[in-house]
Amino acid sequence: MKVIIAIAVLAVISVIALFTMSSNSVLTINPEVKTVGVTTPVTVKISNPHGVRRIGAYIEQGGARLSLTEVKTPAHRFFWRRHQAPQTLTFDAGKNKAPNLKEGDARIVVEADADDLAGHTDTTSLAVKVILAPPRVAPDDAQHYINQGGMELAVMTPGGSWSEAGVKVGQYTFRSFPLPGRPGQRFAMFAYPWDLADNLTPLVFARNLAGAEATAQFWFRLFPKKFRTRDFPIDDALISKLVNQIDPGGTLAPGPDMLSRFLKINGEMRRKNNQQLADLRFKTEEKILWNGPFLHWGKEESLFADVRNYMYQGKKVDQQVHLGFDLSDTANAPVHVANDGRVVWAADLGIYGNCVVVDHGYALQSIYGHMNRIDVKVGDMVKKNQSLGVAGATGLAGGVHVHFSMQIDGVQVNPREWWDEHWIHDRILSKLDPTLASAPKAESPVTSQPRAKAHGRRRK
Ligand SMILES: [Zn+2]
Repeated sequence: MKVIIAIAVLAVISVIALFTMSSNSVLTINPEVKTVGVTTPVTVKISNPHGVRRIGAYIEQGGARLSLTEVKTPAHRFFWRRHQAPQTLTFDAGKNKAPNLKEGDARIVVEADADDLAGHTDTTSLAVKVILAPPRVAPDDAQHYINQGGMELAVMTPGGSWSEAGVKVGQYTFRSFPLPGRPGQRFAMFAYPWDLADNLTPLVFARNLAGAEATAQFWFRLFPKKFRTRDFPIDDALISKLVNQIDPGGTLAPGPDMLSRFLKINGEMRRKNNQQLADLRFKTEEKILWNGPFLHWGKEESLFADVRNYMYQGKKVDQQVHLGFDLSDTANAPVHVANDGRVVWAADLGIYGNCVVVDHGYALQSIYGHMNRIDVKVGDMVKKNQSLGVAGATGLAGGVHVHFSMQIDGVQVNPREWWDEHWIHDRILSKLDPTLASAPKAESPVTSQPRAKAHGRRRK
């Protein structure tokens, strides 16, 4: 009898021990989901040292619980495992999976049962908005003549359920802003970026918060451009001068071999610096700060999107694309800002040396590199022709020159268009204010084409 009692007590203690040693699951929905549409992926991470034997995902709305997915695995109740790795599960929370879902508030719930004797159920949940109405977008009916590597402006009218609208060209997207004086309409200045094939169709788009997208075509004609390829000879003297200028301490591009240090600066650092420039697009004002054509000074030594083959001891060791104009005849001369705007960068920027970036409004910005001295600071309002500082050869510059470039919404474009008063009138201002387009020839191909051809000739 005593033995039986002892065994029973032991069994009870064991079960209690098994229960108390059972564990809980930690569930995390990441990335965060705020809206659910027709189809919306949700990813949840589940951590439990014993693993889980069931995961259930639901969406709750108006007191009803709709099942989205359930994953079950064979249970380990007594001989459970330990040190199980966390797992992730991605499921669709959209109307495709839950056909009764309606527009409005809802809650995503995910449950997990621990894979041990106690099998604790743990839950995470998230409030979401269900958005099922699709976005719509209508394009303008203007003509858009676009130079490859250059810019244009399109007006669009988004409708339906939308939160974001603009222009898409290939993988690039360009934001839109409210069109002054015309409620309901928006406009986007956009590039046909230099690195895209010449057979893509730019589109206006509108997206809703749930990620559904509407697009529409507008009238356009692209003028393809041939970008120059040039050999750029580098020798040991130039390499060590440039490397020591940018990275004297050897911290950014370390190593005993000067050529590989140079290649690291010319490749990795160039990409990083171009990304830093692109990220300045959010530092913009929603109004036109510029006035008239942009200033064009200096002698053109190197053109926008020149392809440079870096030649070392007769061999090609690197190829990079030069995004901007190198303007010389500027030794110790003031660097004049090309138009009115606000300074959004005034500091060292790697290969660009001492660099100033000026915002001209609506995500249009101009860039001035390799300066010897900067005389402005971030936040300063500057007037066309005002001096930003003194030209120099800082950064990746063999001699004194100003590296000048422009960007729209973070994509660098050929600044030549902004030196041309007629282009500005025809392609930008007349679309912002149709009363300026009253002269019909401004929109005709007869006046636009010869100018575009002239650009092509100068590039050869
Ligand atoms: Zn340059």
